[in-house]
Amino acid sequence: VDKFDEYVKENRDRFLSELQGMLRQPSVAAQNLGTREMAGKVLERLKKLGEARLVEVEGGQPVVCAEIGSGKRTLLIYDHYDVQPPEPLELWTTGAWEAVIRDGKIFARGAADNKGDLMCRIHAIESYLASVGPLPLCVKFVVEGEEEIGSVNFARFIRENCSFVEDADGCLWEFGAKNINERPTLTCGLKGIVYVELQARGAKYDLHSASAAIVEDPAWRLVWALATLKDSNDRILIDGLMDHVRQPTMVELEALKKIPYDEEKIKADYGISSFIKNLTGLDLLRKLFYEPTCTICGIYSGYIGDGAKTVLPNHAFAKVDFRLVPNLTPSLVAELLKNHLARHGFGDIDVKLLQHGEEVARSPLDSTIVHAAIEAAKAVYKSEPVLYPTSAGSGPMYTLCQGLGIPAVSAGCGWHGSRGHSPNENIRINDYFEGIRFIRELIDHFAVDA
Ligand SMILES: [Zn+2]
Repeated sequence: VDKFDEYVKENRDRFLSELQGMLRQPSVAAQNLGTREMAGKVLERLKKLGEARLVEVEGGQPVVCAEIGSGKRTLLIYDHYDVQPPEPLELWTTGAWEAVIRDGKIFARGAADNKGDLMCRIHAIESYLASVGPLPLCVKFVVEGEEEIGSVNFARFIRENCSFVEDADGCLWEFGAKNINERPTLTCGLKGIVYVELQARGAKYDLHSASAAIVEDPAWRLVWALATLKDSNDRILIDGLMDHVRQPTMVELEALKKIPYDEEKIKADYGISSFIKNLTGLDLLRKLFYEPTCTICGIYSGYIGDGAKTVLPNHAFAKVDFRLVPNLTPSLVAELLKNHLARHGFGDIDVKLLQHGEEVARSPLDSTIVHAAIEAAKAVYKSEPVLYPTSAGSGPMYTLCQGLGIPAVSAGCGWHGSRGHSPNENIRINDYFEGIRFIRELIDHFAVDA
């Protein structure tokens, strides 16, 4: 019998109760609830494995850093101890902070995103040290407390603590789940995002709509401006933008071909009869992962109450987000947008950037960390993992990893029914212990894989 497995088995109950202890500590960054207590608990737990410290971030939540073991390679591990708000509380079958175990699952806010994975990694390393011996590489943890509010201070933290992370050879990112066919998934990147508010202004105040005969309507002005951004074939028309988009490589196209994507099920779930331009198969996945979006997320002007109000509004605004792919950056897109509007006679439209945006993060699919994760997944799950070149979501991966030349892969112990960010968030106990085994394999493969 393998000593590692033996140790995990002997400590199974304690591992679960430690996980429950972490889940019972609320830590909602958006509500500034319990985050400092949570950071303290993570710090104490990591101190049992190696050197750990709390790094204060002025005006933000502290980051917990730890360093364990030594070797030729350094594996960076990114997690976050903050969670989404648990509301609406009445939709939870058992309390969001109770961490009740039933039906082989543990239910709590943060179980899947991201305390389950954080503790799974900690328990794997504890088991390795206790049963196998010293780690064959150096592991560095970076556990932040603002991921669910957009990692507002994380870029500054990285700038100030660059020397701690920059020598890493690869990074294990926070999340991952088995898909609907119980196949493990690995994700090698995140989409970037830039979010803007466009505003058109008219008269100093709302006017009687009779004045519309001689005073321009800002709602029309905004609509005309928006209409220059994209055509009805879903082509983004912003001058120069599509010229920057890098086409997928052969390796990336091969990876796309292997992604199972149940189009009929997804269309039924969304209640739509077709995807844009009737796309299907590889073309659909290529558009999903390798093309940018330009989305009107909200649009507002004038009177929208009951009945009629004959008014000429004095302003109109729209919120527009762009999901970014290589080689678009938030600042490039914002600049191209402003130039485009000015060139098309809409220089009067205000462009306000909301949030700082996130850069695109992509790791080469043949990088050592991705390779080690594939081998580890095969060893543990006895099935070929599904390799995603990117997730549909965004996060601070570029800031911590690609920006410093560190490739990253995301893998975790969730499943397709984990309900991250929703009521009854959960992970399955079996997945948790398989996840521990996966981390052990990942460490071994990454340490020796040249
Ligand atoms: Zn997360």
